[in-house]
Amino acid sequence: AKELGRNMIATFRSSMQSAVVQRMRIEAKMRQALQNKEFKLCFHPQVFSRTHEITGAEALIRWVQGKDIFSPEHFIDILEETQLIIEVGEWIILEACRLYAKLMNNKAISLLDFKFCVNVSPRQLQHEGFYSLIERAFKQYGIPKNAITLEVTEGIVIQKTNSIIEKMCLLRELGVNFAIDDFGTGYSSLSYLKKLPIDMLKIDKTFVDTITTDIHDAGIVSAIITMANSLDFEVIAEGVETADQLSILEEKGCYLYQGYLFSKPLTFDSLQALLVAQSSR
Ligand code: C2E
Ligand code: CA
Ligand code: CA
Ligand code: CA
Repeated sequence: AKELGRNMIATFRSSMQSAVVQRMRIEAKMRQALQNKEFKLCFHPQVFSRTHEITGAEALIRWVQGKDIFSPEHFIDILEETQLIIEVGEWIILEACRLYAKLMNNKAISLLDFKFCVNVSPRQLQHEGFYSLIERAFKQYGIPKNAITLEVTEGIVIQKTNSIIEKMCLLRELGVNFAIDDFGTGYSSLSYLKKLPIDMLKIDKTFVDTITTDIHDAGIVSAIITMANSLDFEVIAEGVETADQLSILEEKGCYLYQGYLFSKPLTFDSLQALLVAQSSR
């Protein structure tokens, strides 16, 4: 998909177009993609390593153009730099809720505490219509509020403190859960973390990548896990690819994982099939 992405960008760069014209063309293409329903959500399972039970899944956006599937690294920045992230973001929330309702209505699945994690971009979280969007989405599809965990990055909550925290608190009163994504990259202090209405910390993949070789990163990860446990947050490690990484993380007291060692991101149908199989175990 990366290769195809480069080709796509390369075609955009063809001829003697200025950067501005290129951007406008990409933006127009993305707007079209939204109208033509070319965006899809795929789902990356989150696994409790002690039982191998799937406890949740992160919704990840894809852009499907015929046989080509583009991952967000090729277009998410462009969406975020334009108003389009608001519209696409609204679709993401509604689609995640629609699909969650589909799982709820599947009699072969017992969901228990199963949840979807949904990424929220900074712009989207700050948008005035966000609160009512969330309310509307839950109502429209009749799903419980704690079925969705919103992922926000550590950077954004640190930069925009007050207004963002207020907003998160209001949403949490609704029953929505929050995860801090890419945790460990933003230098939060313990006292600061205590003020945030959060439920889960996601350890960034960059730490997991080097945990077997870099004692400093291993130390940071230990600190994050201890911190999460003492503040009563869930903690999940992202990007776990090897058994060595897993055993080090388990030794440190982390038992939730999202990584290729367990699964790659799946289509909704494949996720549903796994949940059916799990429910009949
Ligand atoms: P993220 O939120 O940190 O999402 C995790 C990314 O790491 C996903 O890539 C996932 O497939 C990848 N990943 C997880 N475990 C492993 C692993 O073991 N190995 C490897 N190589 N990769 C792993 P993806 O889907 O390409 O998403 C990239 C980023 O795009 C996300 O990073 C997120 O910042 C953004 N993004 C994705 N979907 C959405 C969305 O619906 N809305 C918004 N606002 N951003 C999104
Ligand atoms: Ca995420
Ligand atoms: Ca992440
Ligand atoms: Ca990331």
